[in-house]
Amino acid sequence: MRQLGRQAGSALTQTRTVPAPDDLRLELIGVPAGADVPLEVRFEAVSEGVLATGTAIAPLAGECARCLAPLTSSVTVGFQELYLYAEGRHDKHDKHDKQEEQDAGEIYHLDGDLLDLEPAFRDAVVLALPMSPLCRDDCPGLCAECGAPLADAGPGHRHDAAVDPRWAALQQLSEQGNDEHQDRRAGAIDLQEG
Ligand SMILES: [Zn+2]
Ligand SMILES: [Zn+2]
Repeated sequence: MRQLGRQAGSALTQTRTVPAPDDLRLELIGVPAGADVPLEVRFEAVSEGVLATGTAIAPLAGECARCLAPLTSSVTVGFQELYLYAEGRHDKHDKHDKQEEQDAGEIYHLDGDLLDLEPAFRDAVVLALPMSPLCRDDCPGLCAECGAPLADAGPGHRHDAAVDPRWAALQQLSEQGNDEHQDRRAGAIDLQEG
């Protein structure tokens, strides 16, 4: 930033790696705090301030919305923000007003020669985070009956019949009945052969 003149039109591109800020996540996926975020930003002096146009690659870690397996990926985001020169502010703009403006996400000011890219980066990443991240596009999810990941269990995985646990005892009884029936039949065959 310091090399950038205030003459409108002068520009500067910087490439650097910054640590990811905290609390940048949705329910299932987010950017690990402190993770390396490669960043390229072009700073352009315009009449009222500095226009920052950036591209960042945010690493992501979370879990698959279907099978809950841990997953990692990354998302490339672009952002643009105008930072106004401080002297353009009115005197009545105290710290409180400035904070409100920043909360509203509308107006940013240069802090001396420095500008804070984090809010713009944060906004861009939150918009780019998937609501339902998947470990792979065709993730089959979990078995509705036993909860096993179907990707691991294979296509042959199935359960013969859905058994309501309240009926399980009855099914056991009827299986025993079948066994006795078969025993008798086996005995009958023995008799015939003898
Ligand atoms: Zn999955
Ligand atoms: Zn199953």
